[in-house]
Amino acid sequence: MAKKDYYEVLGVSKGSSKEEIKKAYRKTAMKYHPDRNEDDPKAEEKFKEAAEAYEVLSDDNKRAKYDRFGHAGLGGQGGFSGNNMNMEDIFSQFGDIFGGDSPFSSMFGGSRGGGGARRQSNRGNNLRIKVKLTLDEINAGVNKKIKVKKYIGCKTCGNSGAKDKGSVSTCGTCGGSGYVRKVASTFLGQMQTTVSCPSCSGQGTTITSKCNPCKGDGRIYGDETINIDIPAGVSEGMQLSMSGKGNIGKRGGRPGDLLINIEEVEHEELQRDGVNLIHELYVNFADAALGTNLEVPTIEGRVKIKLPPGTQAGKIFRLRGKGLPSIQGYGKGDQLIHVSIWTPKTLSSEERNLLERLRTSKNFIPNPSKSEKGFFDKMRDYFN
Ligand SMILES: [Zn+2]
Ligand SMILES: [Zn+2]
Repeated sequence: MAKKDYYEVLGVSKGSSKEEIKKAYRKTAMKYHPDRNEDDPKAEEKFKEAAEAYEVLSDDNKRAKYDRFGHAGLGGQGGFSGNNMNMEDIFSQFGDIFGGDSPFSSMFGGSRGGGGARRQSNRGNNLRIKVKLTLDEINAGVNKKIKVKKYIGCKTCGNSGAKDKGSVSTCGTCGGSGYVRKVASTFLGQMQTTVSCPSCSGQGTTITSKCNPCKGDGRIYGDETINIDIPAGVSEGMQLSMSGKGNIGKRGGRPGDLLINIEEVEHEELQRDGVNLIHELYVNFADAALGTNLEVPTIEGRVKIKLPPGTQAGKIFRLRGKGLPSIQGYGKGDQLIHVSIWTPKTLSSEERNLLERLRTSKNFIPNPSKSEKGFFDKMRDYFN
């Protein structure tokens, strides 16, 4: 049988662009897709013809040869060599044609065989846990051994769910493939899709005699202690994931992931702002006026600082490099010390007398300089 002209098969002209050819093939493939044309034996043939035509015309080199010499120019290497063409090869093209995330790829993806569907249906669920960390742990990074409750493999049956080897048989519903075909209504009309077999959950086998401890699931609910390495610099709301540390799937299905949500325990003396730490320092009025040496807490222990005479309320001191490490692993933030002046709330009569004498004293009349008044400048400083 003489082969049809590839351009005719796709219904495009000889001068068509790659994009036009792709579009035409998409249309033709949809029209003759075997899942949509079960009653028409010619459809599959046409579907294959279109795939072959596209295979040649989408390849510059093959197309040039075909243009010059026709089918003869392609010799043995043209297309999928006619009717020996493998449907799987055609479906595998669809990833490129329709894009990975299109509804097409998932519909056609199922038709490629039970393998993908089987693995997916059988995979265990992800497991989500919260881990509370102190600022010290966040500063240094920490290894946590955490006992989690989850589905773990059944040792008795080696995750098979069967009592013994003799109690495993091929699933009657799917004939061992692990998937069944199902008609679904889509915007393209009735489409046949492939789903995981409901009888065996995609296993392809059923169990006549179940393992006792796991009741045939191949897994039991138990606990496992997991070593979690948490890098320095994480912050509240961050999620880390450990591949394969979630719940194991039924009957040997691969495990899901462990998702770790970070929570911060509040520090008594330090507040966090990104990589910076902020300490609210309360000093009394005499210390602020006279100046003094004092100790302040940092994430790495207490350090001495000098409070200069005449320190104003709201002053911010910066201890460079005394903040937290960045999660990216370079540099450290600063510690900012915000000075507040403690105003006594009750006074003895002696204190009252002293303050009464100071009240009208010349240097006690507020006289802020422009820079001392600059609230917004201070705020800007604070964040830079
Ligand atoms: Zn078992
Ligand atoms: Zn089955």
